[in-house]
Amino acid sequence: MIDFNLTQEQQILQIQARDFAQNEIQPIVRIIEESNNLEIEPWEFCQNLFYKGSELGFTSLMLPEKLGGGGRKCIDLAIVLEEIGVVDVSIACSYFNLTAAMSLFVTRAATTEQQKRILSFVNSGKPHLFSAAESEPNVATSDMFCALPDSNIGMKTFAAREGNTYILNGTKSSLVTNAGIADAYFIIARTAMDKPLRESLSIFFVPTDTPGIKFGKKTQMIGWKASHHAEISLDNVPVPAENLIGQEGEAGKLLMLLPEVAIGLAASYVGLARAAYEYALSYAKQRVSWGRPIIEHQAVALKLADMMINTQAARLVVWDAAVTAETSPQLAATIKAPAAKTFAVDVAIKNAQTAVEILGGYGVTKECLAGKFLADATIGYSCDFTRDILRLGIVNFL
Ligand SMILES: Cc1cc2nc3c(=O)[nH]c(=O)nc-3n(C[C@H](O)[C@H](O)[C@H](O)COP(=O)(O)OP(=O)(O)OC[C@H]3O[C@@H](n4cnc5c(N)ncnc54)[C@H](O)[C@@H]3O)c2cc1C
Repeated sequence: MIDFNLTQEQQILQIQARDFAQNEIQPIVRIIEESNNLEIEPWEFCQNLFYKGSELGFTSLMLPEKLGGGGRKCIDLAIVLEEIGVVDVSIACSYFNLTAAMSLFVTRAATTEQQKRILSFVNSGKPHLFSAAESEPNVATSDMFCALPDSNIGMKTFAAREGNTYILNGTKSSLVTNAGIADAYFIIARTAMDKPLRESLSIFFVPTDTPGIKFGKKTQMIGWKASHHAEISLDNVPVPAENLIGQEGEAGKLLMLLPEVAIGLAASYVGLARAAYEYALSYAKQRVSWGRPIIEHQAVALKLADMMINTQAARLVVWDAAVTAETSPQLAATIKAPAAKTFAVDVAIKNAQTAVEILGGYGVTKECLAGKFLADATIGYSCDFTRDILRLGIVNFL
């Protein structure tokens, strides 16, 4: 039998995440969004939020209890991220989902020694922000999905082994989330330039104070105002061999063990879809035309019903992917997680567009939130692989 009810523990977690999002995150997001200063550094405002959320256990929720984590399930993380995504999808994705997912990655792919070392911050109670860098300025990131046995295709960052050290050289794109503010980086580089991408990608753990790693200035984006993205340049960066996660050439395979990244993004986007729906609903109940609230005009009412239905459908697809991540991780990684991410983002974009429409002229003004929802939703199209690439990937496993 399928039970869609949340347990009492999950209900408590949901309320805790909702309170945190509404009471702590909301005021900070308002300050960032209302500032006209392009130079504003969102991390200065968000750092304390990240620390508080980490103390509440949101970045270590799924880590095993023996490593200091909450020992909870993917569905629990989805519940938390939806609540944060309602208030700000960029905070949910950049700070909480990315750090939670990369911590989990360490428990799946790293040796026991690496787990203890890299995740020591969990027990020490000092929150740690992670970043993961694969994309490069002059290379299509979609090449990561290319199966052609052509060694010229794909990323160029190279890790050359010299004794017990790898020397990393290359540039990562200006889109890399948390670049320049993170405490440590998971950098994907090639360990062989004469082999196809799939056989030559390796993943390295690189603390931020490693010599030779430099960061560009903050990238300006159309939305996701509360997050920070920048280019990374790697100039003879020495990385001890003990910081190679897994074996050389295994990065692609290991990252496939992590459907939670896409599920977390999807859950955050369900939050955005819900926010757009609730915002438009509230407006439609108050705005009066032809002598009655606009929700009483069928053209508006039908739009709102569709927004609610699609949000509910997206949540179910995400929860299904989250449950599958526990029961059948391969199925989650190949089909259900990318499906959830594309669907949830599509619903968020559609709901945001509809919210703009329902708010009439005010929908395009800065004083209302519909424009923020639309910009933030659109960014979901390409973060962590585009919807087309994800769908093409899914087809390989049908
Ligand atoms: C908000 C945000 C956060 C990000 N964070 C990170 C991060 O933390 N770390 C990181 O490394 N990167 C990050 N990125 C980069 C992101 O992963 C890439 O932008 C994304 O995967 C798309 O790659 P691209 O921009 O190189 O587009 P391309 O790969 O150049 O694709 C361009 C277009 O061509 C299409 N296309 C390409 N190849 C094919 C094909 N074979 N068949 C059909 N269509 C194709 C794509 O769907 C797309 O529409 C982030 C991006 C965003 C927007």
